[in-house]
Amino acid sequence: MTRLIFLGPPGAGKGTQAKTLANHCDIPHISTGDILRQALKDQTPLGIKAQSYMDRGELVPDQLVEEMVEERLCKPDAKSGWILDGFPRTVKQAAFLGELLQKLEQQGEKVVNLDVPDDIVVDRLLQRGRSDDTEEVIRRRLEVYRSETAPLIDYYGDRHLLITVNGNQSLEEVTADLKNAIAS
Ligand code: AMP
Repeated sequence: MTRLIFLGPPGAGKGTQAKTLANHCDIPHISTGDILRQALKDQTPLGIKAQSYMDRGELVPDQLVEEMVEERLCKPDAKSGWILDGFPRTVKQAAFLGELLQKLEQQGEKVVNLDVPDDIVVDRLLQRGRSDDTEEVIRRRLEVYRSETAPLIDYYGDRHLLITVNGNQSLEEVTADLKNAIAS
C-alpha cells in the first residue's frame, strides 16, 4: 500500500514526479493546487474564495483546503493508496491530516522531501510560465514556503516518516530514486 506525501519548494518538480509515480503505482495523484485551479476555472464557490490568495502566492485558508482533502480521501479510489502533492503546507494542516488518516484508517504514510537548491528552484519557476508564476508572486510563494511549509521537514523528521530525495538531477534519475525510496 503506497501512501505518500510529497514535500518540497515550489518548482522542485513535485507535480511531475508525483504524477509519474502515481501512474506507476496505479493510485490517485491528489494535487491540492490542481483541484483549486479546476475550481477556479469552473468558478465554484471554493474557486471564487481561493482566487485572490492564489493570485498573490499566499496560502488558501487551512479550513478550505482541509475540507477539500477530506472529501477527496473519502472517495473509493483513495482506499488503494494515494500520493498527496501540495498538502499539507502548514503544521496545522499536517496535524489535521494525521487525525484524518487515523479516522479513515489510512495510516502508514511516508513523506518524501524533494530537495532542490533555492537558485535552481527560481530558474525552474521562471521558465514554467504558469499564470501565477510572475516574479513577484514566485518570490512570495518561496517566502511562504520557507516560513509555513519548510517546518514540516522537521515535523515529519521527528516522527521518523521522512525520506529525502535529491531533486537536483535529471527527471529519470529522480524517478528512479523515488521508486527505490518507496520500495525500501
Ligand atoms: P501548487 O500547484 O501546489 O503550487 O498550488 C498553487 C496554489 O494553490 C498555492 O500557491 C496556494 O495558493 C494554493 N494551495 C495549494 N495547496 C494548498 C494548501 N495545501 N494550502 C493552502 N493553499 C494551497
